[in-house]
Amino acid sequence: TERSLVLVKPDGHARGLTGEVLRRIEAKGYTLVALEVRVPEVEMLHRHYAEHEGKPFFEPLVEFMSSGPVTAAVIEGERCIEGFRALAGATDPTAAAPGSIRGDLGRDWGEKVQKNIVHGSDSPESAAREIDIWFPGL
Ligand code: ATP
Repeated sequence: TERSLVLVKPDGHARGLTGEVLRRIEAKGYTLVALEVRVPEVEMLHRHYAEHEGKPFFEPLVEFMSSGPVTAAVIEGERCIEGFRALAGATDPTAAAPGSIRGDLGRDWGEKVQKNIVHGSDSPESAAREIDIWFPGL
C-alpha cells in the first residue's frame, strides 16, 4: 500500500470543511495514519513548496499557507496518491470537475494564490519527502 500527505489549507479550515475532506477520504476507503492541526511555519512551507520557489505565486502562497491553521494528514491505501488527487480535482477550483472536493466546494481564486482547500502529494517521491517534513520520524 501507498501513503500520501494531505493538507486541508487555511481556506478549508476557515470554512469548516476539514471534516468534509476527512469524510471523503474515509468514505473512499483510505485510512488515516497521522493527523494534526497546526499553523505551519514559513520555513517548513519553503521546504514543502521548494519546487515552486521563484514562481510569481510562491511568496503569496507561503504567506497564505502560514496565515492560519492547517490540518495535515497522512493517509494510506492502494494507489491513494493518484486516488486522492482525483478526489481533490483540478488545481483551479473553477475548472475542477463537479464531484471532486475542489469542484464541489472550491470557489475562491486569485491571481497569485489559488485557495483550493486541499493539497495532496503528486508522486511517491513527493509523498515520502512531504511526510518527512510534516511528520518527521513517522
Ligand atoms: P497541491 O500541490 O496543493 O495539491 P496542485 O498539485 O494541484 O496543488 P501545484 O502545481 O503543485 O498544484 O501548486 C501548488 C499550489 O500552488 C496550488 O495548490 C495552488 O494553491 C498554488 N498555485 C499553483 N499554480 C498557481 C498559479 N498559477 N497561480 C496561483 N497559485 C497557484
